[in-house]
Amino acid sequence: MAQAPYRCIECNSEAYELHRDYRNGILKITICDSCQKPVDKYIEYDPVIILIDAILCKIQAFRHIIFNTKINIHWRLCVFCLLCEAYLRWSQLQGSEQSSDPADIIRYTKEWDFYGMFGLAALELGVYMGGVLAFLWLVRGFLKSSPELPMLLKALLLSSYGKLLLIPAVIWEHDYSPLCFSLIKLFVLTSNSQAIRVILNCSRRLSLLAVFVGLMFETCAPVACQRLQSSMPDFLLFQ
Ligand SMILES: [Zn+2]
Repeated sequence: MAQAPYRCIECNSEAYELHRDYRNGILKITICDSCQKPVDKYIEYDPVIILIDAILCKIQAFRHIIFNTKINIHWRLCVFCLLCEAYLRWSQLQGSEQSSDPADIIRYTKEWDFYGMFGLAALELGVYMGGVLAFLWLVRGFLKSSPELPMLLKALLLSSYGKLLLIPAVIWEHDYSPLCFSLIKLFVLTSNSQAIRVILNCSRRLSLLAVFVGLMFETCAPVACQRLQSSMPDFLLFQ
């Protein structure tokens, strides 16, 4: 039998349809055989309500978005989030430099700083993902379902949408900005944990542990970069 294309958002059982069309404009939402609840109540909901439930990290909303929709913007979202992160780091770097020299070479160097920050953000994301995937690969024997790499990557990238909040946090800069950045980070990690839980149908503890391991890997990346930079010859560096 062909693999079911949908999932019940309540019990994670597979489903072959979300609704049935009885013609003459009569549509009936499908009821799950396992839990006797609607397979996906969100197909009737306004996207704003789905977004609010996703922000509240409701597992049903995550299942709806990941399994029952054809959203395919995760790579574009990833690039945009990296740009947001690069802009944040770049603006903090500019804020720490007191030079007011208008020479072109300075602007040129600052532009390269932005590319450098983008590369660093991409590297940290790659290391974070690598850490999460390595941990899940190690504990694969304890998982109810084997991790599907494309689905897992898609879920992790989509659930990192919270990084978009960095832009307003940078634009409306105030004394509590560092606290805002920490809260945004916490929100992204919580969403990532929920996405892992949805994909693997595992316990909350395991998904939190996977995110924690990824975070540990990510924290080590800048230290490794600094050591690499210090070991590079001067003529290879821009500054
Ligand atoms: Zn169900």
